[in-house]
Parts: sequence; structure tokens; C-alpha cells
Amino acid sequence: MNSIHLNGIGMTSQRTRERLAQRLRDEGITNETVLNIISSTPRHLFVDEAISHRAYEDTALPIGMGQTISQPFIVARMSELLLESGPVNRVLEIGTGSGYQTAVLSQFFNEVFTIERIGPLQRQAQKRLRQLKLFNIHYSHGDGFLGWPDKQPFDAIIVTAAPEQVPAALVEQLAEDGRMVIPVGPQGGAQTLRFIQKTEEQLVEQTLEAVKFVPLVNGIIQ
Ligand code: SAH
Repeated sequence: MNSIHLNGIGMTSQRTRERLAQRLRDEGITNETVLNIISSTPRHLFVDEAISHRAYEDTALPIGMGQTISQPFIVARMSELLLESGPVNRVLEIGTGSGYQTAVLSQFFNEVFTIERIGPLQRQAQKRLRQLKLFNIHYSHGDGFLGWPDKQPFDAIIVTAAPEQVPAALVEQLAEDGRMVIPVGPQGGAQTLRFIQKTEEQLVEQTLEAVKFVPLVNGIIQ
């Protein structure tokens, strides 16, 4: 398994991270691999220094450009759904944002393909993840509604911003026996997390809990 070697960067926050993992366990996350990854991933490096003292609260935080780093609970929840449902070979992530969810995925999937539409966020996340020596990640500054046709099919797809409907291109690029976890619903309205599994003949879609994500938006910002 790929893992982060902290070498002093953030060893001091180890206990704070362990407390966060314990809180997620208390809130119902059961997968110990995911909880271990949360305990070793330095979330404070994925937010601005001015708010880094809040990095181990179980809350979304602003990352600039009107976007947020997802709440740790939801990162853990989506990760465990993917980890427990099939092969952990190739995953496509839509909405790199800060890169935190990407860092978590890169520690249990063999290869991560991640797309972000906002240039400054994309470049900053890429730089951070390289500094953490996570080298199994492929980056794209692009529109996630289109997926990544050249690299399909994917064993898993995770979307970290909410469209009003599941984008057809993403369903298309899912491998047979692949699965997708995606929030769906209007901005500021009733969004729910969906878990979609693709079999030879059909798509099986389950609606899980209510969630709150920033919207999935068309087009890119340089
Ligand atoms: N997982 C990220 C979540 C960031 S918020 C984190 O924890 O940091 C969602 C991100 O999705 C934002 O950065 C937003 O710019 C991006 N996004 C929205 N629409 C997109 C699209 N069509 N393609 C790619 N990224 C998109």
C-alpha cells in the first residue's frame, strides 16, 4: 500500500488526527483501512495556513475560488463505499479541489485519475500531492462532466461536487462491475448520495443519506 511518510511534517498533529479518526469511528465509519489512512494524512497541509488549526475538525472548510475541502466524515464514507465494493485498481475522481480526497484514494487504489475545472486549485493540489510523494496520481485540468475518455474504463468513479443528474459520460466510462459514488441534486436543495453499480445487463442505483456539496459546474476556468 502506498502511504505518506511524514518525516516531521505534521508528526505533531498525529494525536489530533487520531482523535479525528476516533470521532469518525464513533459516527459510524467501520473500515479500519480508511480510518488508518485518515490518521496518517496531514489534512492541515491541504488548507490555507490561516485556518490550518481547524483542519482536524470534522467540517468542510473554504479553499478559495468559492470551493471547500470536503468534511472528513464524507471523505471517509465515500472511501469506504468504494473500498468495500470491488477491485481497487483504477479510480476516476471528479473535483480534485484541495487534493485531500485524492491523497486518501491514492493510498488504497493503484492508480488515481483526478480532474479539476479551476486552474489555480488544480495546480496547487498537484504541487501538494507531489510534495507528499504520492506518485500514482494522474492529473487533468478539465471538465469532469466529460470524464476522461482516453483512460476509461474505471473500476470506480467518485464525484465530489453535485450535478442535478448523473452525467451520462461517467456511467459510460465505468467498467463492467464498476461502481460510482456521487452526490446528486440541486445546489442548496435536497441532495442525496447515490451508489451506482454497473453489471453486464443493468445499472443498480441506491440512494443513501442526504448530503451537501458544491455544484458540479460545466466548463473550465484557466
Ligand atoms: N474532494 C475535494 C472537494 C472539493 S469541492 C476536497 O476535499 O478538497 C469540489 C470541487 O469540484 C471544486 O474544486 C470544484 O471546482 C470542482 N468541480 C466542480 N465542477 C467540476 C467539473 N465539472 N469538473 C471538474 N471539477 C469540478
